[in-house]
Amino acid sequence: MREAVGLVAPLCCAICGSPDTSVCARCRPLLRPRVVGVELSVPLGGPPVVAALVYAGPVASLLAAAKEHGRVDALRAAAPALACAVRALAPDPSAVRLVAMPSAARARRRRGFGAVEELLRAGGLRPARSGLSLRRDVDDQAGLSAEARRLNLEGAMVASARLRGHRVLLVDDVVTTGSTLVEAARAARAAGALVVGAACLAYAVKRRVSTR
Ligand SMILES: [Zn+2]
Repeated sequence: MREAVGLVAPLCCAICGSPDTSVCARCRPLLRPRVVGVELSVPLGGPPVVAALVYAGPVASLLAAAKEHGRVDALRAAAPALACAVRALAPDPSAVRLVAMPSAARARRRRGFGAVEELLRAGGLRPARSGLSLRRDVDDQAGLSAEARRLNLEGAMVASARLRGHRVLLVDDVVTTGSTLVEAARAARAAGALVVGAACLAYAVKRRVSTR
């Protein structure tokens, strides 16, 4: 199987590019989780938000390789970090519904898989079968201001009625302003779920404004 993949596209470390590996031994320590609480610019309304990694060079490279080039093999190397964030809020993950953030249908079609669901499965966790979906098209959040992100997503999600009465842990790959999680929490609560928190693979640190 590995050989077959190699024929299609030569395998290289998704972080540093060294050959014949998904993520090389030198880069793996960069994916070692350190779960921290994340303060959102728009709070979730009570429940905690945690993330396992900083969204910087290595993690950004890994996610870009997965999302832009379909490198599911590389994505799996980050699965233990997400599992660690999930367990920080849900020591028994089977007691909660793990609800992934819906990606725009367009993006999912292009890469052919849901990155968050894939991360959960590779970490030995089970994503909720019915969770959240988008009820209208939304613009790509990248490049939008915090306020534009909020407006872009307001009322955009709908949660499955099957979440009613269940404890829900929201799961995402990268948390930036938190507007996605806020809309997800709203939709889940509207469906009668109890949102216990949000676990993310990585959190984006605001860049210092250049004084150049
Ligand atoms: Zn490497």
